[in-house]
Amino acid sequence: MGSLPDAVAPFKFLIVGCSYSGLSSALNLLDLCNGQSPRMSHEPYKHHPQFKRIPIEITIVDERDGFLHLIGCPMAFVSSDYASKTWVRFQDIPALQRPNVRFVQGSVDKVDTAAKAATVLAHATKEPLELSYDFMIVGSGLRRVFPVVPQSLLRKQFLLEAEEHIHAVTNAPDGVIVVGGGAVGIEMAAELKVIRPDINVTLVHSRDQLLSSEGLPDECKTRALELLRETGVEVLLGHRVAETVKLPSPSPSTSTPCSSTPSTRARYEVRFTNGHKVLTSEVIMAISRPKPSTGFLPAAALDEEGYARIRPNLFLEPADGLHNVDRHIVAGDAARWSGIKRCGGAMHMGHFAAYNCHQRMLEILTAGGQGEVPGEGRHEAKFQELSFFPNVIGLAVGKKAVACGPDGTISGEDVMQAYFRDDLGFQICWNYMQLGKTAAEEDMPPTIEASA
Ligand SMILES: Cc1cc2nc3c(=O)[nH]c(=O)nc-3n(C[C@H](O)[C@H](O)[C@H](O)COP(=O)(O)OP(=O)(O)OC[C@H]3O[C@@H](n4cnc5c(N)ncnc54)[C@H](O)[C@@H]3O)c2cc1C
Repeated sequence: MGSLPDAVAPFKFLIVGCSYSGLSSALNLLDLCNGQSPRMSHEPYKHHPQFKRIPIEITIVDERDGFLHLIGCPMAFVSSDYASKTWVRFQDIPALQRPNVRFVQGSVDKVDTAAKAATVLAHATKEPLELSYDFMIVGSGLRRVFPVVPQSLLRKQFLLEAEEHIHAVTNAPDGVIVVGGGAVGIEMAAELKVIRPDINVTLVHSRDQLLSSEGLPDECKTRALELLRETGVEVLLGHRVAETVKLPSPSPSTSTPCSSTPSTRARYEVRFTNGHKVLTSEVIMAISRPKPSTGFLPAAALDEEGYARIRPNLFLEPADGLHNVDRHIVAGDAARWSGIKRCGGAMHMGHFAAYNCHQRMLEILTAGGQGEVPGEGRHEAKFQELSFFPNVIGLAVGKKAVACGPDGTISGEDVMQAYFRDDLGFQICWNYMQLGKTAAEEDMPPTIEASA
């Protein structure tokens, strides 16, 4: 074992987004820089003999104060117990508690790719904070509206937000209408019906098929409809909402067909363009046209919809006005890539982002680029490249799930177990990213040692 000279400065990483892609990037990167194989790899990593360990410092910036298991939102908005499980503050994620990882709660506002510097608006002060970096990994995902996702930035606020929503949808003597037959609407309607079978839940969709905007086979869409109806949700297809009108509240002495208790609960009439009208206590708008949260990147890095243009190795595509593209990588939903946006894809991209940054660091180190380290021949970076992602979906519909991909459509309780278990996949994701694993002695931050 020899030692790298003290002149080797740690590589500074700025990771934007502490969710599936950001967390996967950070943790696989820590593994690699501690001389291990990345946790998501199926094969052992062949380390460079001279640079088995590489010193790094990671700053993770997120607007939220922790990791929100986004997939669980439809259940979090009907169950308080589940809500408290589904948002884990950064400081409570064991795998990230390391001296060379720090967390800043704030919003990345601007990035200067030439200077490799980002401006962050800190959550507490709203004061701009300048952060310089050697590598930036963007995992900032998509912006979505309430109640598709919560808008709170603090866990304790989120619990109140969820509680308020739970109260609204479970105190619904005239039932609940969910507008939007996409994946989120289907899951929200089904979760509510499963948890509160006594409530009339109706899902309305403007088109003649559920999941109409997804490029999925008819068999998958039909199966989703069958499973949703099996849960007891009433489904109205071909119903486009024209307007929702608030009706005068009933007097306290009036009781409703669904409840023997007098109610002063607000009531709404949902009017459809086909003339049909439905009375309801609550309307959930499960329609989201999500937009990439990438406004902080230079416009030259983005396509017309705001997705970051990446190469198959996830580094930004070169463009006029962009600098250091080989130091800027984008993973997860924020990146322009094929396929339906999914958390499995985001974690896979996070793994590749870490791998490819590690390859790039070896290239720099063997060229003597980070301090004056003499290399034993320049390392030629070998990148992991993304392949085409086909349209794949796993959809939880109450106690069953439907999954569809290139091999066809499957559904049932066994599919639910395989894809989501009983917590909408929280434990599966937690275990896959190994978030509960503390940094053991051997994978503590590098001691600037190399096996030379
Ligand atoms: C209700 C719902 C259900 C879903 N169900 C499934 C499912 O069953 N299966 C599946 O595979 N996928 C599902 N998805 C999709 C899946 O959640 C996404 O593909 C996944 O979250 C993408 O991960 P990501 O890390 O790229 O981005 P995100 O999870 O969106 O995380 C982005 C992070 O970046 C932070 N951020 C954003 N902008 C900034 C900024 N400027 N500065 C600092 N931080 C910032 C955010 O706070 C957030 O923590 C579902 C999505 C929703 C909304």
